Amino acid sequence: MMPTLGPSVHKILITVSIALVWLARPLSSAPQIPSIDWDKQKAEILQHYRALVQIDSSSPPGNETKVTDYLKKVLDAEGIPSKTFALDPNRANLVARLKGNGSKRPLLILAHTDVVPVHREKWPVDPFGAVMKDGYIWGRGTIDDKDKLVAMLTIMLLVKRSGAVLDRDLIFLAEAGEEADPHGVGINFMVDRHFDEIDAEFAVTEGGSARLEDGRVTVVQIGTTEKLPKRARLVATGTAGHGSVPRVDNAVVHLAAAVAKVGTWETPMHLNETTRVYFERLAAMSPPDQAARYRALLDPQRAKDVQRYLAENEPAHYSMLRTSVVPTMLKGGVGMNVIPSEVEATLDIRALPGEDIGEFFNQMGRVINDPAIKIVPIPATRPEAPPSRLDTEMFLTLESVAKRLYPGVTVLPSMATGASDMAQLRARGIQSYGIGPAVTEADRIDYGAHGDVERLSEASLYKFVEFAWTAISAVAIKK
Ligand SMILES: [Zn+2]
Repeated sequence: MMPTLGPSVHKILITVSIALVWLARPLSSAPQIPSIDWDKQKAEILQHYRALVQIDSSSPPGNETKVTDYLKKVLDAEGIPSKTFALDPNRANLVARLKGNGSKRPLLILAHTDVVPVHREKWPVDPFGAVMKDGYIWGRGTIDDKDKLVAMLTIMLLVKRSGAVLDRDLIFLAEAGEEADPHGVGINFMVDRHFDEIDAEFAVTEGGSARLEDGRVTVVQIGTTEKLPKRARLVATGTAGHGSVPRVDNAVVHLAAAVAKVGTWETPMHLNETTRVYFERLAAMSPPDQAARYRALLDPQRAKDVQRYLAENEPAHYSMLRTSVVPTMLKGGVGMNVIPSEVEATLDIRALPGEDIGEFFNQMGRVINDPAIKIVPIPATRPEAPPSRLDTEMFLTLESVAKRLYPGVTVLPSMATGASDMAQLRARGIQSYGIGPAVTEADRIDYGAHGDVERLSEASLYKFVEFAWTAISAVAIKK
């Protein structure tokens, strides 16, 4: 039956259409983002990027001060004030700040300046040559993390040149010691000793990615949270003795059984806001059988059924659903005819944000169910922090800019199974988001971060800088 519209319904419709007209009006409050001629900008981006890759800052030893010296020179030439902070004079951090009108809290953009070491014999080109070949720039750090470093540097230069009024301070941090930092020269030094220099409402840094398929960006992942290393040792004790006489309290036998139990333990599954949205959106873009599995995860009745499949076929997704327990080292024994009285295993445990780790160890103890085994926690290297929210201005802007720049893209908030320097920032209350340039799946596997060889396509570099600039300037510049 078709109901006729009464007068009150008409009134609602009129009100709705007025509202639509209001929404469609030119937004006088929209930020006055200066438009950039990206074709003209390319040469400068490439010049700084190649110069940064050409500085060997592999850590250890790092030598990040060579990088901050370079950055300082570039910033000085533009009249952008910067300061360096160094616990170790060879491993300086640099902070530059463009002042805003103070109406909002600052935005921190950061990248690390060190890179992982290289095995030179694996490289077809000089790893610190920033060689340009086949449309790529090749070199250690091209993906991790000098792409983000040049993006953040370029944003500072462009904001300064534009003369735009900022609603909030824009802070640039080039940090040392992300890859290897036994002495705490990087993020820990900055957070513990100079937090006022980098305190902000939002941070944007590495920790995200984008997928390039047939020349089109299909997925943008924005890092919003990460698992927390909470490692432990399993220590088994028994009676020492002669290898010719079997003993029921043989520590090796008890340890082996315990390792097998925890290594195959299907720990409880939990979703948080990030992983729930991640699997919902992943289901929406996946082929039917895959989509059905991701949807099953959202249904407590069916979630159990797909765990085995994920464990065998999509281990990273399996890990994203739970606090994971992975045996990584075994230690024990002094001779082939000696029963040792103590042997141990190391477990790389990665906890979900918010996991009650004491209770988790109790549960693990019940799974092992052996008084000969002691669980000994290893002190955590990162602080605990809640996930960054998906409803902040920063996240929503990154999301909308991704959709605008890459039509048809799916934006996924993501939880890293590994750990990053965002942990320290989130623990201090900064809503922190990870971004990254678009790469093909093949490039991600063969030429990705920490791989034998690293490279980034020139086109992806420029598009990434444009993406970062568009989102960051929109959040910083006066509305
Ligand atoms: Zn990195």
